[in-house]
Order: sequence, then C-alpha cells, then structure tokens
Amino acid sequence: MRNYDAVVVGLGAMGCATLFHLARRGLRVLGLEQYDAGHELGSSHGDSRIIRETYFEHPLYVPLVQRAHELWRQLEASSGKSLMRITGGLMIGPPDGMVVTGTLRSAREHKLPHEVLTPAQVHERFPAFEPAAHLVAVLDPRAGYLDPEACNAAHLQDARRAGADARFNEPVLEWIADGDAVTVRTRTGTYVASRLVIAAGAWTQGLARDLRVPLEIERQSVFWFEPDGSTESYESERFPIYAYEYKPGHICYGFPRLPRGVKASIMHSGRIEQAAESVERAVKPDEVNPLRDALRPVLPRLADAPVREDGVCLFTNTPDHDFIIDFHPRYPRVLISSPCSGHGFKFASAIGELQADLLTTGKSRFDLSPFRLDRW
Ligand SMILES: Cc1cc2nc3c(=O)[nH]c(=O)nc-3n(C[C@H](O)[C@H](O)[C@H](O)COP(=O)(O)OP(=O)(O)OC[C@H]3O[C@@H](n4cnc5c(N)ncnc54)[C@H](O)[C@@H]3O)c2cc1C
Repeated sequence: MRNYDAVVVGLGAMGCATLFHLARRGLRVLGLEQYDAGHELGSSHGDSRIIRETYFEHPLYVPLVQRAHELWRQLEASSGKSLMRITGGLMIGPPDGMVVTGTLRSAREHKLPHEVLTPAQVHERFPAFEPAAHLVAVLDPRAGYLDPEACNAAHLQDARRAGADARFNEPVLEWIADGDAVTVRTRTGTYVASRLVIAAGAWTQGLARDLRVPLEIERQSVFWFEPDGSTESYESERFPIYAYEYKPGHICYGFPRLPRGVKASIMHSGRIEQAAESVERAVKPDEVNPLRDALRPVLPRLADAPVREDGVCLFTNTPDHDFIIDFHPRYPRVLISSPCSGHGFKFASAIGELQADLLTTGKSRFDLSPFRLDRW
C-alpha cells in the first residue's frame, strides 16, 4: 500500500498533463495507465492535432486555447521536444455557415487577428486549395498543429523529472472514496490518495461508478493521402491546417504533409459504439469515399489521391460537445475529466494546469460552468 497526494487514472493527453502540473507543484502523484505509453486504442494518437485560436464552436474556448498555447511553448522549452508548428488555419464554408460565422464571432469578441479571403485569394496563397465560388475562408494566422505523441511524452518526461510515478500496463479495477482518502486498486497494487483524477477517455463511464455520465463513444476513421504532382503545395509553408463545412453543420479537416502523408478526416461521421473494447479497428477501403466527396469542392486533387495509410481513433462525446471537468457529485475528492467531443487535445496543457488548480485550491481562473456535470 502506498500513499499519494493524488492518483491520476489514464495517461492520455489529459492524464499526462495533469500529472505534470501536480508534480511540478511538489505533490506526490501517481499516474496509472492500462496500456503501453503511446498506445493507439484511445484518443491521443495519430501524429497531429489541430490547434487554432479562433473558435467557431464557441468564443468561451478562446482564453483557454491562449493559455494552452503559452504552456505548449513552455513545455517545448523545458522538455527540449518540438511540439507545435504554426501553419495558419483556413476556416472554410459558406458565408452564412456555422464555421465562418462562428470563427468571425470569436475573432471579433476576442479581437483576434484574422483575414477573410475569397476563393481566388485562397488559391493564390495556398495553391493546393481550389475552393468553389460560393465559399469563403477565414484565415487564423495563429493556428497550426501539435504532435500528440510528443506532447504526451513531454508531459510525462517532465512529470517524472518532477518526481511523479507513472505505471503502464496497470489498469485500475476499482476505487473507493471514504471520508478523507480514496483507495485505488489495480491487479498488482493498492494505492491511497487524497485525490483521484479520472482521465480515462472512452473508458470514463466504467470508472464513474454509480454516476451516469451521458458520454457516447464514436469511432473515427482517419486517412493519410499520397497526392502526386506538385507535392510542394502540400508542405506546411504553403498548406495550412483547415476545417471545411462541406454541408450545414458538417466538417472535414486536415493537415499539411507529415511523414505518413497528408492526413484528413470527417468530424463526427462515425458509428456510436457500446464500448471501446468492441470497436472495429480495421478500416474498410470504402470508408474513405465520404471524405473524398467532402473534400472535392475545396481540395479536388487531394480528394482523388491514393490512400497511403488509415487508422481509427475514438471520440468521447457529450450531448452538447462541451467538456466535462467537475468533481463527482457524491465523492468530492474525485475529479472527472473528459475534455473530448473531438476537440480537446489542443487544450490539454491548460486543462492539466487548471485541473491541478482545482485539486489544490478548489478554484480555477477559467469559467468552468459550461463543463459542469449538473448541466444535464
Ligand atoms: C481522430 C481524432 C482527431 C482529433 N482531432 C483533434 C484536433 O485536431 N484537435 C483537438 O484539439 N482535438 C482533437 N481530437 C480530440 C483529442 O484528441 C481528445 O480530446 C483527447 O485526446 C482526449 O484525451 P484524454 O486524455 O481524455 O483521452 P485518452 O488520450 O484516450 O486517454 C485516456 C487514457 O485512459 C486510459 N484508461 C482508461 N481506463 C483506464 C483504467 N481503468 N486504468 C488505467 N488507465 C485507463 C486509456 O488507456 C487511455 O490511455 C481528436 C480526436 C480523435 C480521435
């Protein structure tokens, strides 16, 4: 039996970041992960994650992403790893669509730099893009992408340097909270802590005990294309990250060329699954067809390029697609952390910090009311 100030269950994006921010404050912390470091069964793998400052979903996310941006740069400096590349970002859609109007709303509300571009201007500056005449684009100059595997490894490395314990291939089987402690049991050990963080991604419901969390697991397929022809037009200098509203409320997105190819996917196009364990991990060849159709009005050559690789990743969705960051209503020592719905990674550095604030002071400088459990 070992004692800790806090145990973090799950060492994906949110768990690694939280472990780091707790350890750097001098707390005795333990992270427990059921699989290997960098495994591909959860939500935090696949080479790239978009980070953008404008936020079409809601302006409330802007201060959080601004803090995350600072912390990613600090983590690069402390860990010596390259984590974030700024490419600019094109938010493309019809002028009255939710991507364009939401991006402009967040930019105006927070006075963010941005440019509105016509299809011809987009093509002139970023030659691979050939948007159809009815579309416009908002350029977010501070957008780019993060390397998720490197980010998690950097948080973990710096957490360990600050004294954290982290154990892999050690699933948490159960936890029991009484008056002043939480006991966590795995196959090989029992740990006692003052606080518990459940950062278990698609496995959250199974660990939330008697609490019914309205989370859905959604299977997402992603594709790495290999376009031929003028390949330099897909390099990050001339190919920003993008999100394109190809039909009302539906988005596809993608990245410049990375070693595996030019990655793209459709948001929220997948099957809702009963459990992470039963998700079909193989991708069928025809699964790419809806993505090709979605991309064609903006990236016609990429849309018809051969697929080099594919993969599956899991979204853990809330009904409103906002996050869950809140204490368990019956066990106030237990923090439930489920910032996903397909857009959580970019915030992980800031969420690690704010969760450490919540666990040590009970407060955060961010308004977390949109992420409360009692909104349902
Ligand atoms: C295809 C795809 C594309 C995405 N694109 C973007 C993007 O461009 N930008 C963006 O900001 N976000 C994006 N996201 C969302 C983002 O990646 C997620 O919000 C984020 O990775 C969630 O991190 P997490 O720590 O909550 O979950 P995970 O990274 O899945 O971590 C949870 C961990 O808990 C472990 N675990 C579960 N149960 C137990 C247990 N009992 N004991 C021990 N360990 C346990 C799991 O094994 C897992 O490692 C995308 C997600 C996907 C799937």
